[in-house]
Amino acid sequence: MTGAETVKKSGRKLISALSLLLAALLTACGTAESAATAGETDTAPTIAAEAPTDTVTDAETEPLPEKWDGPHVMSLKIGGVDISEYRVVKSSENDATLTTASDELIKYIEAATGVYLDEEGERREHEICVGVTDRDTDRVRAEREKLTNDGCAIIYDEGRLYLTGNTPTGTMYAVYTFLEDHVGCRFYSSRCEAIKYSRHIDVPADICYTHSPRFLNRDTFWYDTFSPSIAAKLKINGSINRNMTNGHGTSITYAGYFVHTLPSLAGTSTAPNVQPCLTDPAVYDKVLANVKKLLRANPDAKIISVSQNDSYANGLGCQCENCKKLDDEQGTPMGSLLTFVNRIANEIKDEFPDVYVDTLAYRYTRKAPKTLKPADNVIIRLCSIECCFGHPLDDPDCPSNKQFREDIEAWSKICDNLFVWDYTTDFMYYVNPFPNLGVLYDNVRFYAEHNVIGLFEQGNGQSFSGEFGELRAYLLAKLMWDPDMTREQYYAYMDDFLEGYYGEGWQYIREYIDRTTEKTKDGHMGIYDPISTVFTFKGSKRQKELLAFLEEMKALWDKAYEATDDDACRRNVEKSTLQVLSAMLYCKWDKKNSPAMLETLHTLMKKYRVNFFRENQKTPDTVDYTKNISTW
Ligand SMILES: [Zn+2]
Ligand SMILES: [Zn+2]
Repeated sequence: MTGAETVKKSGRKLISALSLLLAALLTACGTAESAATAGETDTAPTIAAEAPTDTVTDAETEPLPEKWDGPHVMSLKIGGVDISEYRVVKSSENDATLTTASDELIKYIEAATGVYLDEEGERREHEICVGVTDRDTDRVRAEREKLTNDGCAIIYDEGRLYLTGNTPTGTMYAVYTFLEDHVGCRFYSSRCEAIKYSRHIDVPADICYTHSPRFLNRDTFWYDTFSPSIAAKLKINGSINRNMTNGHGTSITYAGYFVHTLPSLAGTSTAPNVQPCLTDPAVYDKVLANVKKLLRANPDAKIISVSQNDSYANGLGCQCENCKKLDDEQGTPMGSLLTFVNRIANEIKDEFPDVYVDTLAYRYTRKAPKTLKPADNVIIRLCSIECCFGHPLDDPDCPSNKQFREDIEAWSKICDNLFVWDYTTDFMYYVNPFPNLGVLYDNVRFYAEHNVIGLFEQGNGQSFSGEFGELRAYLLAKLMWDPDMTREQYYAYMDDFLEGYYGEGWQYIREYIDRTTEKTKDGHMGIYDPISTVFTFKGSKRQKELLAFLEEMKALWDKAYEATDDDACRRNVEKSTLQVLSAMLYCKWDKKNSPAMLETLHTLMKKYRVNFFRENQKTPDTVDYTKNISTW
């Protein structure tokens, strides 16, 4: 990504305990070691040797044998015809993503069934056509025409199966969707994949599935998804911290930095809470010149960010008379910012007709203006930093979400390009529990219902997760692809992940999720709140009750560990157990037992490359649990 050098230079000075967005900016430009380059995710994931189940369209009543050495799918038919009768027809377009699509199809079909599909050879009666080919029927062309946003289609027509999209990326998504929904493949994380055991699968001859995602931009800032390969499988198309250009689909790329760009564009102070004057003609000229320069140097970029510097909760924009006048007229400090951003957007639209100008509605600019509207080529990126994630955003009884709801409603009425920057972890201590899995479903739906077309789900982007990073990224990816799924489908994805990733004791982990989620209901959960207030116990014995609760939670993880003898699953259980160890130490320092527990925690964090904090430079040793970091 361009601009990385400057960000490194200016960004490092800015790290502060409250500047969240900046943390993303730093790693986005490669300051942190990314998963993709760390060598951890380069190795091919192992296909879990799980116990046979009947979960994939098994029409037969006889139970599967408990163990056998054959393929995961004993018989795969498409339209009643055995898979061995098919060959793959590759699109004639020369495109790395289309090559990935057909290669992946062949690879996973072979892994599942033992049948290697030819790509070469004579035209056959039965074929699987990947992307645009000369086999396309009128029906396939008509369905493809309707797709948007890298949408995909799975259609059986006249003896052929068509896996296709309106773009090469959409075609790749069609292949992964087919493998998941019809072959039983699972892509849980960069290092955990599985194929469900199945006796017999018959893909029906009348299949005609099409899907165009409502979210144009789908991104998670969870470390494991920085691997382009898992991002492609999860249909994540954000370009922050990952390079998708090498056959993993196209992503929406930025010219210059991702966020908090005004100080660098204007050449003004990068200190948090300091914003340039947006009615100063010299500032405007300089920003415009730099925007044009960046766009000319990055002809493929789709977005340029012209966004405010990072700030604390009490931050404000320029308070000069001219800026204040615009803000007062619009009833929000967004008045001066949007006036400025609209001017830039109008100025560049003729030379760069396909480029959007992205700005933040963040902290003091969150409220929408009274009469001013964003220009057609402006993206408003609304940030949920102040919200409670223990309750859904549309919970009428949660006061911190009420104001956000009003703001998003106002923006959704005046903005066609509404994006959201969302927060999905504990930003004081990444390793602590953040029981938001119950509200994720409601919140992603809520965004879709409010005309949001881009989501950036910020999590722990600085290290692997000692909590539920992989699960959360997986569920977010599923929701961003299809926010219209039912709640039952959401929990089915969760259970399927838990079983595949954590092994036979997965139900203990589901119980942990349900019970910790339930315990957040009576309080509120902001992204900086201590875990002792997130889990609410009332009265004078609340510390004692909380500790007893955490002991019970720890016992669930121990049972999950004991229940599986699969090495990979045990590692996953052990890694995610860190959250409850951390919570126990956080809530009470016990001179007798805590030192040994802390040592265990440190050892495991090093083993699994998990950090406490979002700031990559900090080591586990910098947390001093003896200093009563909990708030009572
Ligand atoms: Zn000013
Ligand atoms: Zn709340």
